[in-house]
Amino acid sequence: MTERKGDNPALQHERLDKVLVQVEDELNSMALRFKESQASESVAVFEVYQYILKDPVFIGLIREQIERGWIAGSAVKRVCEKQIAQFSSMSDLYLRERAADIRDLGQRLLTRLIHEDDGLLTLAEPIILVADEISATLIAEFPRGKLKGIVSARGSINSHAAILARAMGIPAVMGIDHSFELLEDRTLIVDGYSGELLVEPVASIVREYRQLIVEEEQMDELFATVRNEPSVTLDGVKVSLLLNAGLSADSDIGMNDCADGVGLFRTEIPFMMRDRFPSEQEQVTSYRRVLTSYVGKPVCMRTLDVGGDKQLPYFPIVEENPFLGWRGIRLTLDHPEIFLVQLKAMLRASQGLDNLSIMLPMVGSLDEVRVARRLMDRAWREVSAETVDQQGVVRYPSLGVMIEVPSLLYLLPELSPLVDFWSVGTNDLTQYLLAVDRNNGRVAGIYDALHPAVLKALQQIIDTARRYGKPVSICGELAGDPIGVLVLLAMGYRRFSMNNSNLMRTRYIVRQSSSTELQALLEEALRHQHTGAFKGVFARYLEERGLGGLLRGGR
Ligand code: PEP
Ligand code: MG
Repeated sequence: MTERKGDNPALQHERLDKVLVQVEDELNSMALRFKESQASESVAVFEVYQYILKDPVFIGLIREQIERGWIAGSAVKRVCEKQIAQFSSMSDLYLRERAADIRDLGQRLLTRLIHEDDGLLTLAEPIILVADEISATLIAEFPRGKLKGIVSARGSINSHAAILARAMGIPAVMGIDHSFELLEDRTLIVDGYSGELLVEPVASIVREYRQLIVEEEQMDELFATVRNEPSVTLDGVKVSLLLNAGLSADSDIGMNDCADGVGLFRTEIPFMMRDRFPSEQEQVTSYRRVLTSYVGKPVCMRTLDVGGDKQLPYFPIVEENPFLGWRGIRLTLDHPEIFLVQLKAMLRASQGLDNLSIMLPMVGSLDEVRVARRLMDRAWREVSAETVDQQGVVRYPSLGVMIEVPSLLYLLPELSPLVDFWSVGTNDLTQYLLAVDRNNGRVAGIYDALHPAVLKALQQIIDTARRYGKPVSICGELAGDPIGVLVLLAMGYRRFSMNNSNLMRTRYIVRQSSSTELQALLEEALRHQHTGAFKGVFARYLEERGLGGLLRGGR
């Protein structure tokens, strides 16, 4: 955000007063809710925020900046940035953590000021969004079609914001070190394939990129030709292509009549877009909309997976290592009231439809599954009792787990009788197996879902699943990756869940491939010691089928 001066300090003081009251109200009601649910740690966080908000020194500093001519948003930004820098450099851990409080509070104030200021959400022109940190919720707030590119200083191609951008077909460059103020109103090219940002490119480069866009459109037309064809390989192996949905606010559900169902419905966004937990009835309405869009086809809903890079604004979790912290099932089992409401909402939404299955994220131990199963039994009993006089039964849904925490790789035989299906989350499995933060651009170069260790894990999962007769799918980004799907097919996987944009392309690739050839290719590729050479074997296979264009920039 560029800092700006204005010519009416009195108006700016007024605007500041208004948002201070709004944010204070917001914090009061959140604190009250957590007091009711006895979540004392969270209450303490809100109390700290309220204390800062009333601190005459903090507010005085902002007013001082307004007196110097800065508009309210810029004044808040300047003061917060200075305080964050000061607190971050302190040796005392408690004081260092205050930096995160100031950042969060500052963002709350700024969000309200910016939305009031710029009318950001009613954009007249298409834009490229450039920001220090871009979350999935921020993207979801923009109208479709207006957002043409995304540039974020933080995050990496595996962050949820980047996954959503890919799903929406918007090029994104994450984790880029640039002086963002210099980018305002400049011509930019966002190359999502190579991860490069080009500023004020010369005419010949612009021409080259325009040509690339035309080629991409031609490829899409080619992929659209298989829209009504079955997903079957040249040698007759039938596969299921399912949809990953839920990351986008205006819901990508219901649009894809050629998906075989929904393999992963992420439920976090409706929780993230509000200023409080959605009620059971609100959840029922949104889940029912999804389930009725896929009548007769399976829909796999995942229970809340917040934490990591997905934060609830009204339930801030401040941790040194958020991806190793209070995430997914860990949080919901510690708060069974949240978990039960969500399970009951899913069950109620499925009444009479018979197409719901439920999946648990971030499971790392068998006990977590056992406790979750008990809560599911309870939710089902309660919903069944309440709906006994109504039309349409509530069927007990299949229950599955995401295989994404490496401990499960060693527990698969014991896990098998406890659940009905598995779904491999390659995004997190790769992060945790390789100890590479999926959200950190600095180590993005060594995040590799085709690393030999990940390949061994994937082979082990499908072999074990077959031995135990357990249905298994892949719902991480690897399933929609052109090389990834070939490798997975060769290993024996037959169910793939991916975003809307990749579905048709993957069907086209599947229909051009022979599973017998791919098995031989995998054997050959595994003889190579280097990932580059391994990928090269499959890249050639794609090139021979005129699909080399899909591998631009190595992705
Ligand atoms: C995964 O981890 O691969 C996955 C599909 O879940 P998410 O990206 O939401 O963590
Ligand atoms: Mg995951």
